[in-house]
Amino acid sequence: MDKHAVVVCGGGPTGLMLAAELALAGTDVAVVERRPNQDLPGSRAGGLHARTIEVLDQRGIVDRFLSAGTTAQVASFAGTSIDISDFPTRHPYGLALWQNAFESILAEWVGELPVAFHRREEVTDVTQDDDGAIVHLSGGRRLSAQYVVGCDGGRSVVRKAAGIAFEGWEPTTTSLIAELRTREAPQLGIKRDARGQHGIGPIDGGDDGWVRVVVREAHADDDAEPTLEAVREAMVEVWGTDFGAHDPRWISRFGDGARQAATYRAGRILLAGDAAHVHSPVGGQGMGTGLQDAVNLGWKLAQVVTGSSPDSLLDTYGAERHPVAARVIQGTLAQTALMPDEPRIGAVRDIVASLLVDDAPRRRLGGMLSGLDLRYELGGRAVHPLVGRRMPDLDLETASGPRTVFSFLHGGRPLLLELRDDANLDLGQPTPDSGRVQFIPATCRGPWELPVLGTVAAPEAVLVRPDGHVAWTGSLDDPALEVALETWFGSAASRAVVAQLAAVAA
Ligand SMILES: Cc1cc2nc3c(=O)[nH]c(=O)nc-3n(C[C@H](O)[C@H](O)[C@H](O)COP(=O)(O)OP(=O)(O)OC[C@H]3O[C@@H](n4cnc5c(N)ncnc54)[C@H](O)[C@@H]3O)c2cc1C
Repeated sequence: MDKHAVVVCGGGPTGLMLAAELALAGTDVAVVERRPNQDLPGSRAGGLHARTIEVLDQRGIVDRFLSAGTTAQVASFAGTSIDISDFPTRHPYGLALWQNAFESILAEWVGELPVAFHRREEVTDVTQDDDGAIVHLSGGRRLSAQYVVGCDGGRSVVRKAAGIAFEGWEPTTTSLIAELRTREAPQLGIKRDARGQHGIGPIDGGDDGWVRVVVREAHADDDAEPTLEAVREAMVEVWGTDFGAHDPRWISRFGDGARQAATYRAGRILLAGDAAHVHSPVGGQGMGTGLQDAVNLGWKLAQVVTGSSPDSLLDTYGAERHPVAARVIQGTLAQTALMPDEPRIGAVRDIVASLLVDDAPRRRLGGMLSGLDLRYELGGRAVHPLVGRRMPDLDLETASGPRTVFSFLHGGRPLLLELRDDANLDLGQPTPDSGRVQFIPATCRGPWELPVLGTVAAPEAVLVRPDGHVAWTGSLDDPALEVALETWFGSAASRAVVAQLAAVAA
């Protein structure tokens, strides 16, 4: 039986990102995936919001994605566009990039890291005891691991094996989505009627007449096989013609239902991505939420399997990420409720749209949809507003020259940043090594401005977790620093930093 520290079940966006995070932290990780390669039959998700783009920037890989897609103001709420171009981030936009292209670029990066792949393998069950977990594969093979993570999508076998409830809302409507060709020029764009929203858009630049059709069905039908006949019928009902639809290369169905795992952890089994939360694609937040689950979990799991942090650190994963997906689900439920072109609903939609003209609601929803407003509850309301929020990618002047904050996060290591004024910064003195936590004295002119919140006071020092969220701010002689270091990175890391700070001060 093959043995790994962590087995990730499912190599979609979430599983790939998690495997990369674990490999960056030096963990022995394997991915089990039933697909023979990264190809997807259809385009699926249309892109990423700003915070997910930042997360890729934190790992130094964002240019690979930006150069393959198109940046644009993609955030919208129930059809009203929300411009975030004035948000304080290097990426005040979304990225239009189909999921199949996204996955192949991500897989290329993972291929550069020490990640084992078991492809063409189907997970059928996962069992666990006090000593470890076993992943059962369809051919009878088994893999053993200290921890198993289910990144195996909405119908997750891992979630079912762990006995984790997946409750929520049944779909009230379903839509067919298809990539096909038409014999006649189709009516491109969005069309609304009493059923809701439909659309036809060109794909592959419209070459060879390929289009993506999304058409809402007359009745919610989550079970029947989606067929070309059904797509053509629905197109005739909406547009009066199917424009000669033929040659489908992908047909699927999605609904406005939503479900979330009751817990993200049962012992040695954890869930991330669609295995933990599914909802309507409206708003386009599904893939990004899964990727950010992975970035929250990866470093924690790595520290637990190496013994540098206690197993209880894993509980912070669900505590932080469950509310995030719950909020995304709430947003998708609200948006799908506002979709139908019924006069009363249209009146509410118009009022919402009129409110979004004002700056405060625009910023608030823009922060929510882009994910740039995320704050994990790490220390009560009295702490500095940075705590729990994402660290801005500010320009720094360091002993090794000008750097950005994110450039220190490429390797997935924690960062203790001491912010001095120019006069005190000894640029000639590299600091001694502090083990896993990087200690970097720097100067920073700011501006210390957070999305939605605005300007905040510049901190004296900041402890940044590998996922880019701030764990602590204060002065280096604050005893709370030692507590934060131990809480997040274990006692050995805490001792190493304290010893280094003492050496620097001496
Ligand atoms: C039509 C549509 C449009 C969407 N649009 C957007 C959008 O615009 N923006 C957005 O962010 N999100 C969108 N989404 C959602 C997005 O596609 C998902 O949130 C995303 O794919 C989730 O990634 P994941 O890795 O968690 O799960 P998945 O992508 O489902 O990956 C799961 C992986 O596990 C593998 N697997 C499953 N079961 C097993 C098993 N038993 N054994 C081995 N392997 C297994 C699968 O082959 C797959 O590779 C859309 C989804 C759909 C369907």
